[in-house]
Amino acid sequence: MNNKTLAILKPDCLKRNLTGKVIDFILNKGFTIKAMKQLHLTEPEAERFYAVHKGKDFYDELIEYMSSGPCIPMVLEKENAVETFREIIGTTDPKEAAENTLRRLYAKTTQRNTVHGSDSDENAQKEIAFFFPL
Ligand code: UDP
Ligand code: MG
Repeated sequence: MNNKTLAILKPDCLKRNLTGKVIDFILNKGFTIKAMKQLHLTEPEAERFYAVHKGKDFYDELIEYMSSGPCIPMVLEKENAVETFREIIGTTDPKEAAENTLRRLYAKTTQRNTVHGSDSDENAQKEIAFFFPL
């Protein structure tokens, strides 16, 4: 599955009407959208998705934010999808992100950083199954 990754357009992306721009950016980088939907995560669902961060100081606010409005998860396909998508979104803190990365272009804060991308092939597989179970 090293040609697939899970992306999420986070609630701030939808609230600020950046959905079209972000999808355009992703397609222009050569990714194919294999699946996509819009949903509003409940707090328990956000907790399950971000279970790996439970106990960290930013966890409670992250859960609150991710369940604050609708988001758009999508399955993206490209060679080396996980690594390549992480490159085009930029670092977690948008202030440190490289120029012409999605977070540098659009994100305002470390928490509301506009997009999620899986960080390994193993997690991509788990995250895809979370949002798009067969
Ligand atoms: N986050 C935060 N404060 C932090 C670190 C992370 O609010 O100090 C949020 C942010 O939305 C980030 C998410 O928690 O995207 C998951 O954190 P992770 O370290 O996995 O960053 P990512 O893989 O998304 O770059
Ligand atoms: Mg992460």
